[in-house]
Amino acid sequence: MRNPSATRPQHALMTQFPVLDHCLQIGGIPLSRLAERVGRTPFYAYDRQLITERISLLRRALPEEIYIHYAMKANPMPAVVQHLAHLVDGIDVASAGELKVALDTVMPPEKISFAGPGKTELELSCAVAAGIVINVESEKELDRIAALAKQMGICPKVAVRVNPDFELKSSGMKMGGGAKQFGVDVERVPAMLARIEKLGLNFEGLHIFSGSQNLKVDAIQDAHEKTLQLGLRLAQNLDHPIPVLNMGGGFGVPYFPGETPLDVAAVGNNLQQLISDFKHKLPNTRFVIELGRFIVAEAGVYVCRVLDKKLSRGQIFLVTDGGLHHHLAASGNFGQVIRKNYPVTIGNKVGISATEAVSVVGPLCTPLDLLADQMELPKAEIGDLVVIFQSGAYGLTASPTAFLSHPAPIEVLV
Ligand SMILES: *Cc1c(COP(=O)(O)O)cnc(C)c1O
Repeated sequence: MRNPSATRPQHALMTQFPVLDHCLQIGGIPLSRLAERVGRTPFYAYDRQLITERISLLRRALPEEIYIHYAMKANPMPAVVQHLAHLVDGIDVASAGELKVALDTVMPPEKISFAGPGKTELELSCAVAAGIVINVESEKELDRIAALAKQMGICPKVAVRVNPDFELKSSGMKMGGGAKQFGVDVERVPAMLARIEKLGLNFEGLHIFSGSQNLKVDAIQDAHEKTLQLGLRLAQNLDHPIPVLNMGGGFGVPYFPGETPLDVAAVGNNLQQLISDFKHKLPNTRFVIELGRFIVAEAGVYVCRVLDKKLSRGQIFLVTDGGLHHHLAASGNFGQVIRKNYPVTIGNKVGISATEAVSVVGPLCTPLDLLADQMELPKAEIGDLVVIFQSGAYGLTASPTAFLSHPAPIEVLV
């Protein structure tokens, strides 16, 4: 007889939080104690030390020539951004709201960049006034920036976001290649660079972001190589160096059964080789990698409480006070084609011997409100704490919190 669990794909082991007396420790605090401290469930908790260690891991793995930026849309909680501002080399924002949070940190404005199609006039004028780098996404946007610059008497720093002629293979979300709303098609970039020169704007460099949530070293290496080649090709049209080449990121984390952590050391070794090859061809160019998810996802958990335990036609349901309105991604409705379970546990009963197959659902009146579909979990009762791992990125702010008018969850950095 084959052991079915030996062949069935398993979740990657969630070992980032220690367990003491069957209770998960977040930021060194037992989860049940933390729940009392927070005062109510549901909540998101982010572990400060784990975020710090993640940056150390990247610093060890990546070549020292690489500048690491935090793409804050992954987790824009001000306390998290404040913490990261001391650890990273720059912050990438995607709205005036995020810009405000980034400007409140110690990060100097010239190390903050703003990407996103459809920036409003107000967002552009805030960005110009702040002195940050604007990643220009179209010719018209460039003209609007130039007009604002003239009005305001400020020479803004602009980078061109390039829609490359390749994409990041096996990516969770493709953001480049083919027809895209992001950036300027590479064919049109030379004309755009000439226009920046003519307008007398401060050219900061190129921004090439090809995809997100990738766990494959080969695919990332391929994208890095093509990005450097593209940067070089575009640089040959210019009679001055490209100050900054933002190579994107796309490093993923394991969410679903069968996925394994990205081998960042291998990515780093490949990148070291590439940088050695390209450094002399692109002298005076600063290489940037921008990451969101990889930096914060594993440091965060979403915690909700079991309100009811029901049996329906042989299937056990744990009904909780948390759901898709707080954590859309875990419900499977944030860009997944086929719903799969996030790693989930009962945070105050980790590793107990009694387990049972249950579905964890939320309070919303829709069958989409499903946080775990028939998972083998520690045997839970009313009052126990359900924990969803890998929730530090694209959690709260990527969820429809107004849906059904429940209170928003609390967020804590511990
Ligand atoms: C969203 C985004 C990122 C961050 O992607 P992650 O997958 O969270 O690392 C980086 N750069 C740009 C331009 C983005 O839009």
